[in-house]
Amino acid sequence: MSVDRQMLTGSFRLMKKLNKTVILNIIRNQGPISRADIAKITGLTPPTVTNIVGELLDTGIVEEGELGKSSGGRKPILLQINARASFVIGAAALTDRTVLALCDLDANIVEQRELPPLPSTNEAFVSTLSDSVKQLMQEAHVDEDKVLYLALGIHGRMDIRRGVLESVPAFQLENLEIRDLLQDRLRIPMVLDELVRAETLGEAWYGAGRNLTHFLYFSLEEEPGMGMVVEGQVQAGAADAAGELAHARVASAEERCPEGHDHCLSGLLSADGLRAALGLDGKATLDEVATRLESSEADDLRGRAALLLGQVIGMFVNALNPERVIIGGALARSHFVRQVAEQANALFNEANAGRCEVVAAELGENIAPIGAATLALRQLFGAPRLV
Ligand SMILES: [Zn+2]
Repeated sequence: MSVDRQMLTGSFRLMKKLNKTVILNIIRNQGPISRADIAKITGLTPPTVTNIVGELLDTGIVEEGELGKSSGGRKPILLQINARASFVIGAAALTDRTVLALCDLDANIVEQRELPPLPSTNEAFVSTLSDSVKQLMQEAHVDEDKVLYLALGIHGRMDIRRGVLESVPAFQLENLEIRDLLQDRLRIPMVLDELVRAETLGEAWYGAGRNLTHFLYFSLEEEPGMGMVVEGQVQAGAADAAGELAHARVASAEERCPEGHDHCLSGLLSADGLRAALGLDGKATLDEVATRLESSEADDLRGRAALLLGQVIGMFVNALNPERVIIGGALARSHFVRQVAEQANALFNEANAGRCEVVAAELGENIAPIGAATLALRQLFGAPRLV
């Protein structure tokens, strides 16, 4: 039998890349840790571990720290992530604001800017975003070669693999090859994803979803959205459109949405729906909507919104059996989240009652930029894509 040399070297290379990712993640999650302990955990031979660790030390992402406990011989040198060796930038393009965050490799925010919404149309959107990123790096005194990845989170239809925003009505973007355009301007590798999925990933790595393999995240911003983690992976669906709840029709939704759909979730669970129901001006900010929704004069309305969202959550929980439901976004304040939890809990079936808890997101108001930054960190620490 002849061996396909190219395929064989290809699979060795992939194996090495996988081993490198595995070791990097062990150092990230369990460091400071010795080479010997990494070998024990992974089952790799000590020379293989030493070899791969050497490459990681060369990149500067991993560093040698203090000495560990001796198990007879010399004390081992412990390895840890050098979180400030390099950075990532997370950008969240929301309709009422743009948030940019320069983060270290532990997702701590080093420098953050909140700016007006990005302008509409392809050209203006790209140039303003690119200028804002440059400005952020200047203010933080960080050179572009220290920024490993830039990630953009935005609501809309997109092709993640090709880095193309296919249709983003909020910014009138159509077929925008944003990844290539930004990489040309900034010389930083770039990734993009739906902002709700980015926030889901942020909660999975740094928030209320840590150490969970199954959870749901509900985002309450201009429109309702959902992210789901199944078997430890954020799901994007067949056409990168999983979790789109805007304008989903549900018989129990009484309101007609601003776009004229009867029984539409956006009729009550979108910012525009709530603005109308609360008698607020169309220009009222999300903060104003959230504050009013929490007030005692909005008790009835909040109760109805909580019942509707609770029903949606109850259905997904019964179907997907998650360990937890996390609720975040600008409209997710404490009274509302507690009432949603009560309504959802009452609808859980036997398999889920008392087992699945509904909680508020831990990343709070930073969930959008940290979520986007986590997309960038996934490029660094996540497993390589096999397909
Ligand atoms: Zn609608």
